[in-house]
Amino acid sequence: MTTYFDHNATSPLDSRVQEVMIPYLSCANPSSAHSAGRKIRRAVEQAREQVAALVGVQPGQVIFTSGGTEANNFVLSGFAANVRPGAIVVSTVEHPSVLEPANALSALGWTVETIPVDAQGRIDVVAADELLTDSTRMVSVMGANNETGVLQPVAELAEIARARGIVVHSDAVQVAGKLPLSFDDYGADAISLSAHKLNGPKGIGALIVNKKLDLRPLIRGGGQEKGMRSGTENVAAIVGFGLTAELARHELFTRAAITRDLRDYFIGRLDDIPGSQVFGEGASRLPNTVMFSLPGINGETALLQLDRKGFAVSSGSACHSASADPSHVLKAMGVAREVAFSAVRVSFGHENSRTEVDGLIAALKKTPTALAPGLTERSSTSTVSIA
Ligand code: PLP
Repeated sequence: MTTYFDHNATSPLDSRVQEVMIPYLSCANPSSAHSAGRKIRRAVEQAREQVAALVGVQPGQVIFTSGGTEANNFVLSGFAANVRPGAIVVSTVEHPSVLEPANALSALGWTVETIPVDAQGRIDVVAADELLTDSTRMVSVMGANNETGVLQPVAELAEIARARGIVVHSDAVQVAGKLPLSFDDYGADAISLSAHKLNGPKGIGALIVNKKLDLRPLIRGGGQEKGMRSGTENVAAIVGFGLTAELARHELFTRAAITRDLRDYFIGRLDDIPGSQVFGEGASRLPNTVMFSLPGINGETALLQLDRKGFAVSSGSACHSASADPSHVLKAMGVAREVAFSAVRVSFGHENSRTEVDGLIAALKKTPTALAPGLTERSSTSTVSIA
């Protein structure tokens, strides 16, 4: 049995959500005019209301997408397609689903500016303000970083940018369901959500928009989602996302309290691992996320060793080949390359327990690679490699 500590990658489907989804795996087309179709349309619209309620908007502001990646791609390219090329400003620590479409705009005559982060991983609002010019059309800054959990001052930045007529987007995929998330308080024109990060199904998400935002659709066809995202709706996933959002809204504080307790307990117990360091520890962070370094150890190797012991975690580098780069997030925070290569991310869920955390700490302590050079004797079976 694997103990799962990788909730920022994806979280287990809530059994209550799974149950409501099953009847919709085979159902009428919600666009059909017959009564079976109309019944399914009502289920889709109810889900839209539930998702809207999670972030405090009108249902008409919810555009269902295939997930966070599509929502991010849609808002960046859909907005850019409707305005004169100018500058887009993103933070250096965005998810690739923002960075890649932003960079792709360069081929269309756009300039991409990046907002630096400090050593704690927070964007510098003053530096961001200085980057905004008359040609800046859009700013996209994530609500919380998926690797470190560090929260960004989106509302503060949005106020500055919108006062200058600049459109603001925030990738809120990691915030939703973990912390209260109000669209109005964020002050953005659009935010992206993804159901599978809050115990919902994979392959469904939403772009929440300010009604005045003029976007060109990414996917054209039958005109579903008011023409903003064509294609027959993935009804089971949409219905599942609806209940996911409702459950997250009602259980948010309980879930956050559980994961915060586990995170803080884990950080306390990390003292048992000499020389380990928590990234972004001085910043406000998601309650469930800890990214830390294991001194002198390759994070990918640690991940594989923990996996063999039955613990699922994540590492900071995408791959363990010699040419791999360490996490772009840690690099942006100025973390030394060899320290960044030793990063491990643990992201808790509300179904985890302190006993499981104890098990993880024990496994970390017993992992041969968890013996840092100079701190304690290294086992001959160690497979340490800092790629
Ligand atoms: N944005 C962030 C911050 C994420 O962590 C992820 C998922 O890893 C995504 C976007 C992409 O979401 P999805 O998996 O729904 O495409």
